[in-house]
Amino acid sequence: MILFKGGTIIDGSGDQPFPGDILIEDEHICQIGQDIDPGEAQVIDLTGRIITPGFIDAHSHNDWFCLKPDKRPFFDPFLSQGITTLITGNCGFSAFGCSADSPYISEVGGGLFHLSPSERYERCRDWLREIDGQTSLNVASLIGHGTARTAVAGLQTTELSEQQLADMMAILEQGLIDGAAGISLGLMYAPGLFAPTEELIEVARLCAKYDRILTIHPRAESAISMSYPLLSKSHLIQALEEIEQLVRSTGCRTVYSHLIFVGRRSWKDLEPALKRLERLAEDGYEIGFDMYPFHFGASVITVVLPDWYMKLSAEERQKPAVRLKLRAMVAVTTKLLGFGFSDMTIAYAGQDHPEYVGKTVVEIARLIDQSPFEAYLKICEDSDFKARVLMGSYQNDEIVERLMKHPLSVYMTDAWYEEAGIQNASLDQAFLKFLELGRKHQMPLEQVIHKMSGQTAKRYQLGDRGLLKPDYKADLSILNEDLSLDMVFCNGIRVYDRASGGLLEERHHVSQAISYR
Ligand SMILES: [Zn+2]
Repeated sequence: MILFKGGTIIDGSGDQPFPGDILIEDEHICQIGQDIDPGEAQVIDLTGRIITPGFIDAHSHNDWFCLKPDKRPFFDPFLSQGITTLITGNCGFSAFGCSADSPYISEVGGGLFHLSPSERYERCRDWLREIDGQTSLNVASLIGHGTARTAVAGLQTTELSEQQLADMMAILEQGLIDGAAGISLGLMYAPGLFAPTEELIEVARLCAKYDRILTIHPRAESAISMSYPLLSKSHLIQALEEIEQLVRSTGCRTVYSHLIFVGRRSWKDLEPALKRLERLAEDGYEIGFDMYPFHFGASVITVVLPDWYMKLSAEERQKPAVRLKLRAMVAVTTKLLGFGFSDMTIAYAGQDHPEYVGKTVVEIARLIDQSPFEAYLKICEDSDFKARVLMGSYQNDEIVERLMKHPLSVYMTDAWYEEAGIQNASLDQAFLKFLELGRKHQMPLEQVIHKMSGQTAKRYQLGDRGLLKPDYKADLSILNEDLSLDMVFCNGIRVYDRASGGLLEERHHVSQAISYR
């Protein structure tokens, strides 16, 4: 038993802080109150410090790394920012949901993620069993629509046949029965981008049937994109209309993943987009969004390419007419969007091209003496369309502040460790940045913490996590007065202690796989 004595308690519910003691036994909180008798318990004096629930990262892709032989680089950065639980499997990509003998297994992961044979699990149930106790963080996972669609049809660009649809739905339903927290859609990535709305409604209906959450990476995150006809209303709003259609026609709980506004000219969509989400909430639907605190995010280089171009063969792509058409489209969109190749930094471009890493496409164009468009296509081709990018101008300080304070937001990292190339700053800084920004923007600390714990746990139905409450799991983050991280406990085990140098050995096998109950 451990007694945390004399700290300021922020319980994750959004309620005001109060002074008090917390007693934990094994993996649970057993008592919260004033002057609790320590009895036999070890006492930790928290005078001058703040105790909160362990933070929950609402949008993660780290299911792909849960079975790595050495998990430290993949999970330690999250622990070092006070995170104890991850919601993984986002954007249509989950690490399970495709059988190892599927002819399409190598296509799973959208070019972003890959699994070695020993990491492949078809069933969510088996995967959850396998990862339990294997990492330093608790993991709940969604099952990816993209993974299930790839399993039955590869990157097929056309509508699914009746049989394929039935097979895909069976995989998704099995995932929910097995304990997945919900289903994720990635509509800007293959194969999600090939799925018609009717198919997505089927998926949303399944979520509603099991009362699980549907998270959606929308088809467009900018006023102009490659997903809709150029001269039509804001693409971001059109994509949001599709989400509204899914919500209103099925009533499923829904998350708009990483609400961002790519390109300066998309920023005007902020208020109309929030209005639409608010209207859904007012009409009684469970709707929310997640967000990160930085102005850029990680993506794949192909994310700006139109779907007609991606469907072409390598030879067809070389045709002058094709390149001309693409060049014209790219020129118009970048202009209309207020977003260009100078906003795209190469994070990784394959083993053979370290020279691209850390440079913007415009800088690379200058180095190889070509136009930014030609340089961009060269990087695509040199990396076999697998290069990774950090994209800028997703939002600005004012947008971040507006979203942070919005009642429908929760906080997340959307980060993962890359074995090569440059890292996303969210990997080890996002939640500490949220704390810093909250203070800067004069948000009550209990509200910031709520969006890192209680509100997220409620949204994803995590049960006994996200709050400091008797019988809840003893996932705890302890902050100093300056909001730096002091200690972290995961399931009652101390895993981080600044006074002892930070990360502790005990962290390696404390996690729990969270299965939906
Ligand atoms: Zn995404």
